[in-house]
Amino acid sequence: MKFDVVVVGAGCSGSVAALNSAKKGYKTLLVERGPEPGSKNVSGAMIRESDISRFVDIDGLPFEKVVKSVKLVFSTKANSVELRIRPRDKLYTVSRLKFDKWLAQKAEQAGALLVTKTTVTGVEGNKVITERGGVEADYVILSEGANALLSMSLGMRRELKPEEAVLGLKEVYSMTRDEVNKRFGLQGDDGEAWRVISDNPIPFAGFVYTYKDSVSLGVGVPLSNVKGLKPYEVLDSFRSSLSELVKGSSLREYSAKVIPENGFPSFKACNQRVYVTGDAIGLVDPLTFNGIGPAIASGYLASENLGQCEGYERALLQEEEVSRIVRSRTLVKELLKEENFKFYVNLIVDLFEGWSSGDLSKLKYYKSNLWAMLRHLTLGLGVVG
Ligand SMILES: Cc1cc2nc3c(=O)[nH]c(=O)nc-3n(C[C@H](O)[C@H](O)[C@H](O)COP(=O)(O)OP(=O)(O)OC[C@H]3O[C@@H](n4cnc5c(N)ncnc54)[C@H](O)[C@@H]3O)c2cc1C
Repeated sequence: MKFDVVVVGAGCSGSVAALNSAKKGYKTLLVERGPEPGSKNVSGAMIRESDISRFVDIDGLPFEKVVKSVKLVFSTKANSVELRIRPRDKLYTVSRLKFDKWLAQKAEQAGALLVTKTTVTGVEGNKVITERGGVEADYVILSEGANALLSMSLGMRRELKPEEAVLGLKEVYSMTRDEVNKRFGLQGDDGEAWRVISDNPIPFAGFVYTYKDSVSLGVGVPLSNVKGLKPYEVLDSFRSSLSELVKGSSLREYSAKVIPENGFPSFKACNQRVYVTGDAIGLVDPLTFNGIGPAIASGYLASENLGQCEGYERALLQEEEVSRIVRSRTLVKELLKEENFKFYVNLIVDLFEGWSSGDLSKLKYYKSNLWAMLRHLTLGLGVVG
């Protein structure tokens, strides 16, 4: 059988790539190894409406809650600081199973053929090899996520080093809609999200998201910082600090996945007829936890630029989300170093402690790292500028 385009992986990136290539009139096949789209995906997950609506008609978007308030927590062993932000953008929590299914259905409605329970095992010339046999394709879009075995086998990227990867662990706790709203002081479909930056027991970033009938919580642990401790012990410790929020509810889901912190442009996004998108080329913004937005953007751009390899790479670099990720890499690498991570968390807590005690003259913490702060400030200006 022959297709114009074969897309590997019905995650958010692959489904949008298939949706757009089908819309453009290409005969498109979307292959997913899981029993259904989203069944193999791990995400918090919170999305920004504008990230999706730029590329997909969001009518019927299966959101869980509208995030009206984000709580940002900086926490050390000794103390913690909490800030509450009303987001400027429209943010939603989504279940990946429902969200990915919805996106894949959109691709099918546009004319793409979705085949699930099928793993692609290789790409050889214009042949895409699956466990069920081979198909021919003019173009292949690899949207296979962080564990990108096909992209690696084609030499388009290498394996991530520990300092380029964060391990994400996530749990979902079931509770009634009323209970979710009661525990977080919410009403109707209003939601809340928490982002926690802590150095205890080791540096990690945590999250808590409210859904209609559940609460999801998790941690991202930089693999280079793990040292002796098991990542699930970090999750255990985070959960016990939130015990009141999940008390009496049952664990519905437990999952873990690597989040790439590095990649394109050092990974190849395109090679003649093969295009790589999303996590497979490391398009995650670790500062804002945003992977779904750039995955969708790259899936769309790959399908827009079929036959124009350099055009795709250029379009990626011009895409606001992607270029911000690329520009922030050096800063992120610095901030994820254990000593810097600990320093900033303690600095913020120290500042607020000093401010609340009314005696800023006691602030001493910042003096220990002035040069590093200046360097990071310069790098930061490069990211926002
Ligand atoms: C714990 C955690 C929390 C996160 N929270 C957020 C969040 O709140 N917001 C956010 O924006 N991002 C979040 N992310 C990041 C986000 O999940 C990813 O960046 C995003 O899913 C990447 O999309 P993708 O389509 O590139 O890959 P994926 O979503 O991983 O999809 C890849 C798909 O390809 C399929 N596949 C792989 N290989 C093959 C093959 N050989 N044959 C057939 N099918 C194949 C897989 O089964 C899968 O369905 C989080 C990640 C983690 C781990």
